Amino acid sequence: MPALPVPDHLRTWVEINLGALRRNLAFVRNRIGPGPGILAVVKANGYGHGVADIVRALADDTEVFGVANIKEAVEVASVASGRGVMLLSPCLPAEYETAVRSGYIVTVSSADEALAYSRYGQVSVNFKIDTGMGRAGCAAGSALEEFRRVLAIKGVFLHSISTHLPSADEDAVFTLEQLEGFDALAADLRSLARDAKFHVLNSAGVLTRPEHRLDLVRPGLILYGISPLPEYSSQLEPVLSWKSRVVLLRELPTGSSVSYGRSFIAEKPIRTALVAVGYADGFPRQASGRGASVLVRGIRCAVLGRVTMDQIVVDVSQVCGVELGDDVTLIGSDGAEKIGVSELASQAGTISWEILAGIGRRVEHFCV
Ligand SMILES: *Cc1c(COP(=O)(O)O)cnc(C)c1O
Repeated sequence: MPALPVPDHLRTWVEINLGALRRNLAFVRNRIGPGPGILAVVKANGYGHGVADIVRALADDTEVFGVANIKEAVEVASVASGRGVMLLSPCLPAEYETAVRSGYIVTVSSADEALAYSRYGQVSVNFKIDTGMGRAGCAAGSALEEFRRVLAIKGVFLHSISTHLPSADEDAVFTLEQLEGFDALAADLRSLARDAKFHVLNSAGVLTRPEHRLDLVRPGLILYGISPLPEYSSQLEPVLSWKSRVVLLRELPTGSSVSYGRSFIAEKPIRTALVAVGYADGFPRQASGRGASVLVRGIRCAVLGRVTMDQIVVDVSQVCGVELGDDVTLIGSDGAEKIGVSELASQAGTISWEILAGIGRRVEHFCV
């Protein structure tokens, strides 16, 4: 991605701080110690950050990159300096051949699935065990037996054995039971596959249970500087800032209504700025009327009425000297004020992951 400065004609863009990204990676390294490898999760265009530059910046201390599908794997592999690429979600049968021939590590939930891949050649697999997520994976109770069947398949190389934590940021008791159960299972499986790597920790797991790091950890969100648990936020640096610009300024008299559905009515005369970002760019429509704000010249300004596809209306009555083309910060800081991803996410009734992954194609990327 190009470096700053941002050309005047851009309507909305994100600024990516690669130094912050590397410091967050160092934070993870510090937390898990020198032994384990890092499987950096870069699915969904590196959580909306622009995957190619993210991968290059993380490659130094990343053993494997985690993606969701083949298209992402191809993009990541082309810049991954020879690091492994793991498909974290199952492939469609029509994708098996490409996955095998490209040398990606595939995630399987059963011996039958591993066998289907092996028809296309030698394949590295991540054998996934379901210990409570209820999404992919082999049921924990039959994992040992299923695992023996996987080991017997010719052409299958066991890269790793993993499980996923559904509540590491919500339910410490369940998570601890789950981790202890997986550790016990791992002890049994390890004797059958000495070289396989065991992994379980996502971001919340790395923060709360680093002692269960095993051979690899799988952080996503914390690499981008966002903590799933507020108490760790100060130890991470947000990598992404999201900006837009003022495209129109108006004075609205008392009683004026704003945007679709006229959900906002001015109770006094106000000065409004039209800002060139909307839900088509990923600015969440669900945040309408829920106290969302943006920063203009270091001042917090309320988003008025509903978010529309291409624009939002903002109250700039308190901002001195606002001009057409002024920068508007949607996520990030301006002077002493700051808007975090998690603030916007909670106003939209969603999670930080969804805000980041939803940043749209019209949003250009710049690195700081
Ligand atoms: C997305 C994903 C992760 C990363 O989760 P974070 O909460 O962002 O750290 C880890 N493991 C798997 C299997 C995933 O799909």
